[in-house]
Amino acid sequence: MVQQVMRTHGAGSVSVDDVGNEVTVAGWVQKRRDHGGIAFLDIRDASGLVQVVADPAQHPAVDDLRMEFCVRISGEVTNRPEGTENTELPTGLVEIDAREVEVLSPAKALPFMIDDRTDVDELIRLRHRYLDLRRPRMAANLKARSRATAAIRRTLDQEGFLEVETPTLINSTPEGARDMLVPSRLRSGEFYALPQSPQLFKQLLMISGVERYFQIARCYRDEDFRADRQLEFTQLDLEGAFWDREAVFETIEKVLSSVVEELRGERVETPFVRLTWHEAMNRFGIDKPDMRFGMEIVDLTDYLGDTEFGVFKSAIESAGTVRGINAGQQDWSRARADELTEQAKGLGAKGLVWMVVNDDGTLRSPIAKFLSDNEIESIKKVMDAGPGDVLLVAADRWKTAVEVLGGLRNELGRPDNHDELAFLWVTDFPLFEEAEDGSITFSHHPFTSPVDIDEMRVRPEAAISNAYDAVLNGVELGSGSIRIHDPDVQRQVFEILGIDSETAERRFGWFLEALEYGTPPHGGFAFGIDRLVMVLQNEASIREVIPFPKTQSGVDPLTGAPTWVEAGQLSELGVGLTPEAKARQTADE
Ligand code: ASP
Repeated sequence: MVQQVMRTHGAGSVSVDDVGNEVTVAGWVQKRRDHGGIAFLDIRDASGLVQVVADPAQHPAVDDLRMEFCVRISGEVTNRPEGTENTELPTGLVEIDAREVEVLSPAKALPFMIDDRTDVDELIRLRHRYLDLRRPRMAANLKARSRATAAIRRTLDQEGFLEVETPTLINSTPEGARDMLVPSRLRSGEFYALPQSPQLFKQLLMISGVERYFQIARCYRDEDFRADRQLEFTQLDLEGAFWDREAVFETIEKVLSSVVEELRGERVETPFVRLTWHEAMNRFGIDKPDMRFGMEIVDLTDYLGDTEFGVFKSAIESAGTVRGINAGQQDWSRARADELTEQAKGLGAKGLVWMVVNDDGTLRSPIAKFLSDNEIESIKKVMDAGPGDVLLVAADRWKTAVEVLGGLRNELGRPDNHDELAFLWVTDFPLFEEAEDGSITFSHHPFTSPVDIDEMRVRPEAAISNAYDAVLNGVELGSGSIRIHDPDVQRQVFEILGIDSETAERRFGWFLEALEYGTPPHGGFAFGIDRLVMVLQNEASIREVIPFPKTQSGVDPLTGAPTWVEAGQLSELGVGLTPEAKARQTADE
């Protein structure tokens, strides 16, 4: 380690071995207590905390010390008097008897306390993020992040991967989100896109002969914010040539295990569990199932073939399905039933059927009277339902029914911490899906290969892709695929996506040409580092593990970004504001 200039010890490293020695520490005043005319100061630096005892009569500077003053203190290390030791603190057996106290920098009155107990409004925390990051939990999150990326680099270096940086001012890479654009001054009126991912560059690197590539890459997607989404995020991006899905899985499992081991000291069981997309949807109603709990979706259709209940009957007659989950013992009330019905409607259901099993085996449910004894018995049997269990049933098209139940399953069963970890691979995604406007779009990205090219040509809507996702505790960590390496197949995919050959040449001609020069079969993966660290640190939002995040409305309360710029700057770029934007600007200024 580089020699310290301003101090001899980190605050957290002072120990009984130093008793009798003179030491110098430098850091912040975390706490101050006064007892019998003597000041007890907790001095904190990046390494931890140490207690300093100072007599204000001898050190007048002590009188002025307030919370978070930055100080340097020299003195002799002594054993704490018997009975005052703190065994929970690594330095809790000793204290420093101050000989010299120097204020390096005073601090204004604080907007919030620097501890983990205070519940502070997030806007105020972000406005003073530099103070927020002094809080132990945030400091621990920053450290965890750094150790996570160090573990990733170590593991991939051992596996022979090359770390390569790719540009961030690029042409658009379609990943399904809106691009963030940067105007060019030298070619005014033209724009760069910020990468939604380094997808096409990593594929070019495979053509370049880099057989194992990775990058800890910043990606930008102009999407709506959520707890696990920001405009910019960081992912481990990886690609390999002459390998298959199994090799990708093994590599990613090694990388993820190394991060878990580094942050939690736990071993991860590999290989991870695998589900096909169809199985995940069928059993859990979502493509990122949380495998820490059961409550699986059960198909009731076969048992209700002759049902008199109109909702079930019409669903079955129109090739739909009736499915349910046994939500177990729940606090059940009319209000709770209404609340869940509203949620089910929000997820696309027309309604929700609920049933509670009575002690005598009968059902309490608004629809009980429409069900025959046989139907009730069958439902209870296939749903493994006993007295007190709440059963929720949806009747609809397959996708809607399972998605509704999947949403309710998460709501009712999902643990609210990440103490336990459940990794999962989801494989065999559909190659295409229906866009909101009814057109066909890609499920992963347009460079993903189909499992069966002929099937793709004939029935694109049923084609399965070589794409896969990694899921941890119901959080989608990332996605990857084996890519198309044949330019003709790539052209066909563009065509199915409704990109005519002229547009394909204009937008991706450069890439299609690159594919013509001996492209090796290749594939890869990318996972979100923010999301991974969020789960491993038991946080509920990625903002807790991003040093300087934006708010839900895309604003940085600390620096004020985004901001208006000078009119001159805009004209230099060949960019103008719409009348609406101008009106907003006038109102703002
Ligand atoms: N480019 C993809 C993404 O960012 C990952 C991949 O296919 O490797 O989601």
